[in-house]
Amino acid sequence: MHLTRETFAKLFGEGVELEVYRDLLQKGEFASKSTCMVVGPKLRQIDGVRILGPFREEDQVELSRSDAVVLGIDAPVKDSGDLTGAAPITLIGPKGSVDLGAGAIVAARHVHMSEADAARMGVAQGEHISVRLGGPKSTIFENVQVRIKDSFILQMHLDTDEANAAGVKCDTQAELVGKAGE
Ligand SMILES: [Zn+2]
Repeated sequence: MHLTRETFAKLFGEGVELEVYRDLLQKGEFASKSTCMVVGPKLRQIDGVRILGPFREEDQVELSRSDAVVLGIDAPVKDSGDLTGAAPITLIGPKGSVDLGAGAIVAARHVHMSEADAARMGVAQGEHISVRLGGPKSTIFENVQVRIKDSFILQMHLDTDEANAAGVKCDTQAELVGKAGE
């Protein structure tokens, strides 16, 4: 999940820093040492949900469909940052709790890439592509949104349901197989 500095302070206390646990592949992004509990309106919960850094402008809890079923909420599939219609969810930390009126989404699958990668593959910002993942559970994912920024390192982001269904491992080969409408 991504949090604002204010929400993090309410959950963990004033003056507590968000510490790096592990750097993520995308520059500046990291998994922090902090986790908290998320609770749905039926009081069903998932504990140990990791907070990603750095802080953002909005609180956003990214769930898989399976997580949403466990919590008993209907989180919509959305691009990261688009919280219109996001499901209500409550966060509980060691120092307090925060109710988010619209905070939980199932993040839409996407691929990060640099301008050079985009040119090489002939794809544009926001375009949707199909990507085939190899291996014994080979799968083609459609509607994979292209996100281009020069600092981005080529990486496809799936949720855990998608990755598990396709048996994704670190060395799984991914191949661009088409664009939307082709
Ligand atoms: Zn991403």
